[in-house]
Amino acid sequence: MTNVSGRTRVAAVIGDPVRHSLSPAIHNAAFAALGLDWVYLALPVPAGQARAAIRGMRALGIEGLNVTMPHKTAVAKVVDRLTPAAEALRAVNTVARIGGELLGDSTDGTGFVNALRDDEGIDPVGMRFLVVGAGGAARAVVRAVGEAGAAEVVVAARRSRQASACARLAGTAGRVGTVEEVGEVDVIVNATPIGMGEVVAFPGTATTPVDPERLSPGQLVVDLVYEPLVTPLVAAARERGVASVNGVGMLVHQAALAFRLWTGEEAPLAAMSAGALTALGSSH
Ligand code: NAP
Repeated sequence: MTNVSGRTRVAAVIGDPVRHSLSPAIHNAAFAALGLDWVYLALPVPAGQARAAIRGMRALGIEGLNVTMPHKTAVAKVVDRLTPAAEALRAVNTVARIGGELLGDSTDGTGFVNALRDDEGIDPVGMRFLVVGAGGAARAVVRAVGEAGAAEVVVAARRSRQASACARLAGTAGRVGTVEEVGEVDVIVNATPIGMGEVVAFPGTATTPVDPERLSPGQLVVDLVYEPLVTPLVAAARERGVASVNGVGMLVHQAALAFRLWTGEEAPLAAMSAGALTALGSSH
């Protein structure tokens, strides 16, 4: 960062809000670790300006973009090509220049699976998952674990149409269910904001999306929330001797996939993780 020159290449995240994004900390740590002459910025882009932002990317020669709220769907409509994941989810979180074309990808789902495999030593093949929530993160996770060979992917969400659409992304392994089934799966994924700040479960006031009393050792709890680092769900699982992780692993692994797409280099995962944790620590 201190050596920005005329040759420095640029990557960025677009969204609104975007000032609290951890992506600059993660990617700039990675560029520094590998000594790459790249810089990563956060660019606030208001709703309705996704098309203009992508035109700007082409004109300015920006090498890579991450895309966050509220642009993921709009960007999927204006890039030149989509990966199968982005096509299925109709959402893009990463744009890369490949030759003269802009490729739109969605790295969240594969990031989730890679985090499970690399960090927890768990392969989704034959596993039963309960995913709570049916929004963007849930859709990415459900599709990815379905594709990775999960035996069953149960989606529990408060809106049934969204839940059905989400469950379908896992193909024949997917079905709609309820959080009451928490005791019957191998991996429980919180893909809602419950536990983040003041967000509680609707319609009650629980700070966990499932009843922790129903968890048992041998299960794995993955909370996609990472602020706070120890969420109420992670804490409750730990108290009962149940393995649990927060969302930092997925966050870092989805970034690693984008990094590799842009730079062609293997991502320095440890440096990226340290960058994320430092930024999270300094944001409190
Ligand atoms: P989203 O698209 O807005 O979806 C949120 C889902 O949670 C929806 O199904 C929503 O239901 C449900 N929900 C929200 N509040 C709820 C409540 N109080 N009780 C029950 N259900 C509730 O958001 P998203 O992008 O999927 O993100 C979900 C969470 O995952 C966020 O906390 C986000 O920070 C985290 N995330 C983490 C990563 C990572 O890399 N670790 C990546 C992406 C997202 P309705 O549709 O009915 O509102």
